[in-house]
Parts: sequence; C-alpha cells; structure tokens
Amino acid sequence: LTREIARLDKLNLIGQMAAGIGHEIRNPLTTVRGFLQFMMSKEYFANHSHHFELMISELDRANHIITEFLSLAGYKHYDRQSHNINLLVENIFPLLQSEALKENKNISFLLEDIPKVDINEMEFRQLILNLVKNGFEAIDSGGCVKIQTYSTVHSVVLRIEDTGHGIPSDVLGKLGTPFFTTKSHGTGLGLAVCYSIVERHNGRIDVASNEHGTSFTIHFPLP
Ligand code: ADP
Ligand code: MG
Repeated sequence: LTREIARLDKLNLIGQMAAGIGHEIRNPLTTVRGFLQFMMSKEYFANHSHHFELMISELDRANHIITEFLSLAGYKHYDRQSHNINLLVENIFPLLQSEALKENKNISFLLEDIPKVDINEMEFRQLILNLVKNGFEAIDSGGCVKIQTYSTVHSVVLRIEDTGHGIPSDVLGKLGTPFFTTKSHGTGLGLAVCYSIVERHNGRIDVASNEHGTSFTIHFPLP
C-alpha cells in the first residue's frame, strides 16, 4: 500500500504540475491570440497581416506542443461518472484491510444508503488511500481507522476517522500545502493531492482533530 501510494503520489503530482503549467501557459496564449486576430482585421494593421498570421500560427504551434506534453505526462480530462461511492469503498476495502492486518491495526466501514454522485473513480480511490494511509500512520498498533458514508440534503459525505495522536493547531493551517510534512520520511504530497481532487469535484474537505484522533470529512455535491 505504501509503495502504491508513493507511486500514485508522484504520478499524480507530475500530472497535476503538467496540467497546472499547461493551463497557466495556455491562458495567456489564448488572450494574445485573440488580440492579434482582432488587430489583424483593423485597417491600420491590414498591411502587416502576414506578421499577424505568423504570430498566430506560432501561438497555435505552442498550444499544440502543450497539448502533446499534457498527454505525455498522462494528464487526462478527469472525466466523472455517476457512482454510488459505497461500492467504490467496498472495492478498495480488502487492500486497506490487508495493510491494516500487517501492522496490527483495525479498519472498518459504516455505509449508509446514499444517492449517486459524479466521481472520477481513480481519483476517489486515491483520495481514500491517502487519507487512510495518514490514519494508519497516526495510530499505534491496536488503533482504528473508520470509513463512513452518509448523505445530507446537498451532498454525499465521506468521512475518514482515526484514533491517532491528532494534529496540533499550528499544523492544521498548513494541511494541503504541497511538501508540508511532519514525518521524517513523509512526502507532504498526500493531502495536497486530496485537496486538489476534492476541489476538482467541487467538493469540500473539513478537518476536525484533537489529541484522541482526527477526522477528514469530504462533501461531494449532489448532481
Ligand atoms: P505525509 O503523510 O507524507 O507527511 P500528507 O500530505 O499526507 O503528507 O500529510 C501532511 C501532514 O499532515 C502529515 O505529515 C501530518 O503531520 C499531518 N496529518 C495528515 N493526516 C493526519 C492524521 N490523520 N493524523 C495526524 N496527522 C495527520
Ligand atoms: Mg500522507
């Protein structure tokens, strides 16, 4: 599990950096292209239209390179499908349980009847893996991680709760910052990835913590 998550962390980070950089570069390209096209049609610039055509085609070329790069980096449009997340939790549970057994830790789930929401399955899987992994790392042997689902009027809720050592208040504010870690061998990427996954799903992630444990509560909006 640890190795799989580390690998997913890296893949996901590269994909996200590619996506981020790609969008950051593409936006100004699009703006400049629009202005050039507009200026090209103005009378004053009509004599130099070949310059404008050249500039526009160079921008299009840059845009094409970005598209190629994004697909090379494995970036895909994060297409979502209607899912009952209970089934996704049940699918991944055996993997989590085998990891728990190895370390003499407990994992359980409590799944209520919930409606379907639009979810990218791979991202959801990674969300659970990252949060449960943090839970395992926070508890001693004998400790528990619990996965819960339920629904509210506006959302379906996933909650991952652990009986671990908790998160000090000065650390709480830094959660989700890439590379922020309090662990000697941590990457500080797990939560950053979780936060961006939740954001892409237009969801919300809340953290509650004290010295007896921590819970991450994720709201996915109903379609
Ligand atoms: P990493 O696990 O590699 O340190 P994360 O982004 O997953 O990176 O987590 C960042 C930090 O948030 C952790 O180093 C830890 O201090 C804190 N944290 C996250 N989840 C928990 C949790 N369930 N219990 C206690 N601390 C946590
Ligand atoms: Mg982690």
